[in-house]
Parts: sequence; structure tokens; C-alpha cells
Amino acid sequence: MIRIVQLYPRDMNLYGDWGNARVLQKRLEWRGIDAEIVDHNPGDDTDLGSGDIFLGGGGQDAGQDKIQEDLQHHIDELGRLVEDGVPMLLICGMYQLLGRTFVTGEGKIITGAGILPLDTRAGTDRLIGNITLESEEFGAIVGYENHSGQTFLDDTVQPLGKVVRGAGNNNTDGTEGVRLHNTIATYLHGSLLPKNPKIADFLIAKALERRGIPTENLRSLEIDALAHTAQNIATERPR
Ligand code: GLN
Repeated sequence: MIRIVQLYPRDMNLYGDWGNARVLQKRLEWRGIDAEIVDHNPGDDTDLGSGDIFLGGGGQDAGQDKIQEDLQHHIDELGRLVEDGVPMLLICGMYQLLGRTFVTGEGKIITGAGILPLDTRAGTDRLIGNITLESEEFGAIVGYENHSGQTFLDDTVQPLGKVVRGAGNNNTDGTEGVRLHNTIATYLHGSLLPKNPKIADFLIAKALERRGIPTENLRSLEIDALAHTAQNIATERPR
């Protein structure tokens, strides 16, 4: 049984981010591996250490403010899990909050976990629309962004990809997202994983490897033809 832990789905889940959990569960089941989805919300006594894959979604600034305190209690454990190579996918609001700080448009400082070496501050414009990236690891990546936060990475980490069309981390340096160990953090909603099955299978393969389950037989799925059609259609959509 593979445990997919959703971090703060009550407050952090925008533009289909929950769909990422369903995609992982289904792709595991189609390969004959059972998977359960466990939600962690503020105050819950979840055994995070038993999670195989972690997901976090986007949220309004107010949602980020609500979960900030609970997140502070779990910094050490989440930091250890990231270091240990547990696969994680963090979207938009949770991407920002795994970083050090997010300064909102009102000048309020939301303290992040400081696990990812990056800072975010709200810009004057919202960055909204379809977005496409190119990544050496995953090829073309497509999604949808909607954020005011502008994120700047330390030079010690690599972005997830280069922006082909859209704004990405900050609308200036052409980077999008961040990659660290087996963690992927990005502004791309969508849901992201239905249209980007390579990223879904990366997370699954890392989770299985850690459990000693062979991954060379992760058979490709017929449904991926549909995913590639969806990706092509999304790429051609106006921003
Ligand atoms: N509140 C954050 C911002 O606007 C995150 C938004 C989101 O998760 N879509 O930058």
C-alpha cells in the first residue's frame, strides 16, 4: 500500500490541485499497486513519517495564513523527508510556503518552512494564464498559473524548467519552479499531473524505489495517448 499524503487540502487546493492525488492513486492501481490518500489539515495528528508521496496545492493568501502555524510544527520532519528523497509535489501556495518567506500585497510576512532556498513577494500584477515550460528532465510541461507572488531562487538550486510561454517564478528571469532531491515545486495548476504523466511517473518511481519495489516494469499506460493530446491542446490554447 502506497500512502499519498495531501498537505492541507482543506485550505490549499485551487484549480484542480486535488486531481494530482487521484492521478497518482489511479496510475498506481493500474499497475496493480494499492494506494491510499491521507489528508493532513491543521491540528491533525497525522503520521507524516509513513507517507510515500507528499502533495500540496495552491491557496489564497488567507488560506496560507491559516496553515502557517501548523506547518511550523512539522518543519523538521518535512525537511528530513525532503532530504531523504521522499517524492513531493508542491503547487503554488504550498511551493511558496516551503520556501523561507512570502510577503503579501498588504506587506504581511507569512513565514514559510525554509526547506526550499527561495523567497516570494507579491508583485503589483497577478500573473494569470496558460503556461508552457521546457525541462531537461521531463520535456514539455503544460499547466495554468494564477499568482501574485514572485519567487526568487537561491543559486544553489535549479528551476523545474525554462518558461516557453507565461510568467513562471517571477516574470523576469525565465525560470519556473524548483527541483531539489525528489521534490518538485511549481506554480502550475491544472491539474498538473493528468496532462504531465512523466512527472506523475517520476513521483511514483521514486516512491516505489524507496520501498524496494522494482520500477523497470512500470508499464506505460494506454491512457497516456489521451494525456499527450490534452497536452497538445493545452499548448495551443491562447494564454
Ligand atoms: N496566494 C498566492 C499568490 O497569489 C498563491 C496563489 C495560488 O496558490 N494560486 O501568489
